[in-house]
Amino acid sequence: MTLRVTEVFRSLQGEGLQQGTPMAFVRLTGCPLRCSWCDTTYSFRGGTTLSERQVLSAVRSLGCSWVSLTGGEPLAQDLNVLTELLLGEGFKIHLETGGSEPLAALRTHPQVHIAMDLKCPSSGMAGRNLLANLGLLKVTDEVKFVIGDSADLAFVRGLLSRHPLPCSGVLQPVFGAPLGSTLKQAQEDPLPLLYRVQLHKHLYGQRAGT
Ligand code: SF4
Repeated sequence: MTLRVTEVFRSLQGEGLQQGTPMAFVRLTGCPLRCSWCDTTYSFRGGTTLSERQVLSAVRSLGCSWVSLTGGEPLAQDLNVLTELLLGEGFKIHLETGGSEPLAALRTHPQVHIAMDLKCPSSGMAGRNLLANLGLLKVTDEVKFVIGDSADLAFVRGLLSRHPLPCSGVLQPVFGAPLGSTLKQAQEDPLPLLYRVQLHKHLYGQRAGT
């Protein structure tokens, strides 16, 4: 089998619970969503066709113990062969998914660290959240909410009251959005979430391969 891959590179994990961890990133090509603030639109099309063994070899050469499978939407492709190869060689896997594709399609998901988005209204994609995925998350996984405005924050509050998370949750402002007063207000009635900004963009700017 083969995968369509936009880029393989080494960087620091810029988001979420594992922020700051050196990782080999495999950016899969293609995504069924079109978030208004998407920062990886270059991964929507193009890419290179690689066998899973070619991806494994590229990852090996980067010398990291963690591998981030990202996109695009990694779960839009069949990652079962690749994840089995990576786990078989002792790599730890971090999967970044937009939350619209079924986690159950990945047979290895119990052995993989899942970082799953739940999309907020300003993304334009909130209707695509697959809430059934929440039932498959482990206590060690994470859910990320990207916040673009105060309406997004209200959305998160409502969603958490109906669907308590089975794992940690991370609130991340859209890069560059003027959200100071919104996030300050949020602290007056704190949500059970961690607040994080995108480390890699502060270190390297907004560009491919980081
Ligand atoms: S899910 Fe991710 S890659 Fe897809 S459009 Fe949204 S931000 Fe971009």
